[in-house]
Amino acid sequence: MFNFKDKVALITGGSRGIGQATAIMFAEAGADVVINYQKDDKSADQVKEKCLTIGVKAITVQADTADRQSIIEMVDLSIKEFGNIEILINNAGIWNENPIDGMDTNLLQMTIDINILGCFYAAMAVVPHMKKRKSGVIVNISSTAGQRGESFHSPYAATKGALIAMTKSWGPELADYNIRVNCVAPGWVATDMSQASLDGPEGDSIRKVIPLGRAGTPEELAGPILFMASDMASFITGEILNVNGGAVLCG
Ligand code: NAD
Repeated sequence: MFNFKDKVALITGGSRGIGQATAIMFAEAGADVVINYQKDDKSADQVKEKCLTIGVKAITVQADTADRQSIIEMVDLSIKEFGNIEILINNAGIWNENPIDGMDTNLLQMTIDINILGCFYAAMAVVPHMKKRKSGVIVNISSTAGQRGESFHSPYAATKGALIAMTKSWGPELADYNIRVNCVAPGWVATDMSQASLDGPEGDSIRKVIPLGRAGTPEELAGPILFMASDMASFITGEILNVNGGAVLCG
């Protein structure tokens, strides 16, 4: 088991799915957690209660990650509460169909705002604190779509490819400050984001191209995310960890 005692982890989009599983697993490994959510305060509170029951400190913070000011306020509040943010998990994201010949430009902009700019804003807000302490870890959550593209989802794929480029840029840029930056790239994971597709008519064809024959669970992503944030990954930075049941054999 990982040991994150005395560390503080901020997880964006922590009220459900991969973010929720990650927040709970960090708590189980001893970290105090900041659970960011956008709208669903009830689910966020349930995650917080679970973490408190485990025996760590936990707070929920409402913030739209696409809004820079709300990210700044969330980070300020977290620092005030805990004194530090050692770990940032850039997890919040949206995935929508948006074909090139029928592009919904509002959705295009929203995908860029949340999936790219939100991750920039969060990193911009925490890095000065991490630099001061000469210690920190950022894990960006990308996607197989960022590496091999995704038909009818090009805005999503483009934003997830950007996260890979950001990871490869920030890793070396921040290495002198003992800040590691890595990326976890999930394939299909059974969460609210993907459930309709996995349960729909295309579900079987999706599973057919996953060598392990199924979608992953949120916990199967949380484990690799914790690994990348842990001291066991202390010599890994600027790297992309694929967690996709063998579906995309590339790095
Ligand atoms: P999810 O939809 O269950 O969770 C996404 C979370 O992000 C939600 O809690 C949502 O409220 C939050 N969020 C969205 N916009 C936000 C905003 N503006 N501000 C704050 N929070 C916001 O999906 P998930 O599967 O848990 O996705 C987590 C991450 O994993 C995402 O970045 C997603 O792109 C990535 N991913 C998921 C899959 C999959 O198959 N589920 C595959 C590849 C990558």
